[in-house]
Amino acid sequence: MHFFRTLISHALPTACIVCARHQKTMLCNFCYAFLEKHSLFHYPSCVRCGIQDEACATEPHQCSICLQQPPAFDQTHCLDRYDGVLQNAMHQLKYQRRLAISDAFAYAWSRLALPHLNISEEAVLLPVPLSTQKLAHRGFNQSWEIAKRIQLPPGVQAIANALGRHHSDSNQVERNRQDRQVALRHAFYIRPEMQSKIQNKSILVFDDVMTTGSTLHSIATLLKDNGARSVMNWVVLRTLSPHAQT
Ligand SMILES: [Zn+2]
Ligand SMILES: [Zn+2]
Repeated sequence: MHFFRTLISHALPTACIVCARHQKTMLCNFCYAFLEKHSLFHYPSCVRCGIQDEACATEPHQCSICLQQPPAFDQTHCLDRYDGVLQNAMHQLKYQRRLAISDAFAYAWSRLALPHLNISEEAVLLPVPLSTQKLAHRGFNQSWEIAKRIQLPPGVQAIANALGRHHSDSNQVERNRQDRQVALRHAFYIRPEMQSKIQNKSILVFDDVMTTGSTLHSIATLLKDNGARSVMNWVVLRTLSPHAQT
């Protein structure tokens, strides 16, 4: 059965990315309605880091971790939980290189997330970058593939390559948290010719998956050090444990 479903999902480009039923669109009506009902926008969460937190029911509110150690970014908005119905589709996009799935994620973000976001001023949208080596290996940056397909508000300009990432030889999982944070601090850079796109601008950083927030904190620190006025994270899938180490 599993093999059959996998086969079907590969054979039919319009199979729903969640339930794999053959549909006219890549997200069937049933799964779309489920996502709409259960998206993280309907749950109390920290306005700053996006973590689900009942204490944040009176909005806008920040979780205790953000209050104690404020991250460099100002806001985080997440579509769905990492262990929810979109996890498998995200794995297929990233690790089986099913690039067409990025259309469905962009569709979901445009229809289910954007209506909750009040983007009235001009902003620049930047994907979290991969290193040149990782980009060459995978063939694409999944965050950019989703971001560039979103029906952005008129004032938002998406730029693929303003941010760069240095290649790291050592395995992040093997490092302890402190080592990882030191390494992350120097992992990202702004391409010199793109400096003017950052200065005094509102920046939207687009990421496929947010876990500890360390990566996004490092990027926001870099952006603010280079004159960004504000940094807001747009995240497709959010792990809901603030202590997750992956
Ligand atoms: Zn479906
Ligand atoms: Zn928080």
